[in-house]
Amino acid sequence: MIPYLDLHKINKPYDAAFLEATQNFLNSGRYILGEKLSDFERDFAHFCETKHSIGVGNGLDALVLIFKAYILKGDLKEGDEILVSANTYIACILAIQNAGLKPILVDTNLDTYNLSIENIKKATTQYTKGILMVHLYGQITDADEIVTFSKEMGLILVEDAAQAHGAISHKKRAGNIGNAAGFSFYPGKNLGALGDAGAITTNDSALAEIIRALRNYGSEMKYYNLYKGINSRLDDIQAAFLSIKLKDLDFDNDKRRGIAKRYLKEIVNPKVKLPFYDGSENHVFHVFTLRLEDRENFQLFMLKNGIQTLIHYPVAPHKQEAMSEFHHLIFPVSEQIHNQIVSIPLHPMLTNEEIAKIIEVVNSY
Ligand SMILES: *Cc1c(COP(=O)(O)O)cnc(C)c1O
Repeated sequence: MIPYLDLHKINKPYDAAFLEATQNFLNSGRYILGEKLSDFERDFAHFCETKHSIGVGNGLDALVLIFKAYILKGDLKEGDEILVSANTYIACILAIQNAGLKPILVDTNLDTYNLSIENIKKATTQYTKGILMVHLYGQITDADEIVTFSKEMGLILVEDAAQAHGAISHKKRAGNIGNAAGFSFYPGKNLGALGDAGAITTNDSALAEIIRALRNYGSEMKYYNLYKGINSRLDDIQAAFLSIKLKDLDFDNDKRRGIAKRYLKEIVNPKVKLPFYDGSENHVFHVFTLRLEDRENFQLFMLKNGIQTLIHYPVAPHKQEAMSEFHHLIFPVSEQIHNQIVSIPLHPMLTNEEIAKIIEVVNSY
């Protein structure tokens, strides 16, 4: 059986380094907001080539804190409208709402699965104040056009880079394209911790300062609270693990791209629509999605042949029970994607035999 993802296998090479880091951590007696966290924040900012990186509890909090900080800074105000892809993970919509802003869902591009500049231009009105740009499945698309348009229109551009650690578009890393970016280090992400973790990157020093306080009860100095903050700090032990794994991220992403290139070249089945990829470093293949008209049969066939597949995601946010305010809306492209998409295994620890078998089984469907 080839599992969709094998986290034990992915983290196994780090056993010795993780144990050593854990011993150091135990010796330090410092568990929260310590040196390991500031070391990782420095390393991650350096990696993304941004001025600031702030470690937080998870990817959802990263996005919520960015939007809350923009409100406190005066760049956004409660109720402002933020454009976001209808084809995304529900965290994006929740983050905008939890910060007191209004998500405006926009239908997606059928080739890239992301918002295109045309989608964005069409959806922008006098009430639009920001864009949440999701690099879905690990791919950055239309970055130059979206950045230029945001500047022209005076919109706040926030990246959801939770699936795109390390992706590069026009010489800029994910996290250094918009005004601020949210990352998740959920264990299955391209850079994954051994628990929940997240970070924010930005070049805006005033914003970074507010976020630093907000993640820690709105406090800059202990017991003095400037803002009504939350508790969302990245644990030092997770930060230590992340610093170790960060060194291999580019190498791992190259491996992912190598496997993706094989899939794109060697999967030749007219029933299967392959994902769009321009061959550059703008894609880190967090997931490799196929599109099929009868994906249920395909999933059963794959499983019978010893290959686990997953769906990212089976139900669009606007169709979720929790999101009844959007139930009247129709997004044909996003709905088609949600109905047809299926992801096959792709991670740096896949062996050549496994890759060959996956290709063979997909082709024999
Ligand atoms: C994983 C993910 C998140 C949320 O991250 P958590 O750490 O699970 O809160 C947000 N957006 C996208 C696109 C994601 O893939």
